Amino acid sequence: MTPHNFQFDVCVVGSANLDLVANTIRLPGAGETVAGSSYAEHAGGKGLNQAVAAARAGARTAFVGALGDDSAGQQLLDVLDHDHVDCNAVRKVAGSPTGRALIGVSASGENSIIVVGGANLSLSPADIGEVAASARVLLVQLEVPMATVHAALVAARSSGAMTILNPAPAAQLDAATLALCDVVIPNEHEVDLLGGTERLLDLGAGVVVVTLGARGSRLITRHADEVTVPAYAVRAVDSTAAGDAFCGAFAAACSRGDDIRDALRFASAAGALAATRSGAVPSLPTQAEIEGLISGSA
Ligand code: ADP
Repeated sequence: MTPHNFQFDVCVVGSANLDLVANTIRLPGAGETVAGSSYAEHAGGKGLNQAVAAARAGARTAFVGALGDDSAGQQLLDVLDHDHVDCNAVRKVAGSPTGRALIGVSASGENSIIVVGGANLSLSPADIGEVAASARVLLVQLEVPMATVHAALVAARSSGAMTILNPAPAAQLDAATLALCDVVIPNEHEVDLLGGTERLLDLGAGVVVVTLGARGSRLITRHADEVTVPAYAVRAVDSTAAGDAFCGAFAAACSRGDDIRDALRFASAAGALAATRSGAVPSLPTQAEIEGLISGSA
């Protein structure tokens, strides 16, 4: 590692959305209107979730993202601020709405979702600035433009930071981007869409970690070594944001200098805890809770 004096442990570059959730007996078809039975708003977006996850897992965390100049944007800033995530590099975009997900959930649990990228799609390479190079670990996902993801990885690499890509939602990744990633963390669906672990490694990813839900995760290295990281046995109620908890906690552990297997155990405990609680941000565990689960089952 470089002797660089990093200001942050983890920098997350990514999306922030307000999720608008309506419950209804059944989802409407095209042209149809149905009555909703309840309504709630939640902070979301993989970038915001992972930034809060890293902060709760004990990392001094900065977030780089773009919000609309609207009340939803202010709501999301308040959520990040509540968990002490530094938002000095968040830009408010005039004339563009804060990203939103419009989610309908039926009585039988089916959902239909419209994601409006809004301001997230304005996050540009020019927004990356110094903060991406001022953290020990950079964590990015694919809900913001690919050119911006690439610029963040370049900035982090040039400062000697560790780079982690959660390729979600799955999108075409070129060798120039993958070669900048020390760790790539897809879930099992994403890894299929991306052509498999071997392809990711061949194109230049350092190592790949595939998350497998209740079956744990698998670390695959270039020498075809495979390590299975077991899941913690928990009573799962809602796996929303388990992957975000896993990625944020993994980044936090890596920033403390944990070796990759210890960091994966920590991440696995964080993902398991998130699965035991409803929602996204409210389900993300603290460092003490994660360490409690690890020591309780050691
Ligand atoms: P995603 O939400 O991105 O699809 P996963 O569902 O694979 O991600 O979950 C990420 C990680 O969280 C898993 O690798 C596992 O360690 C943990 N996890 C998720 N669901 C459970 C569960 N039901 N029980 C225990 N651990 C879980």
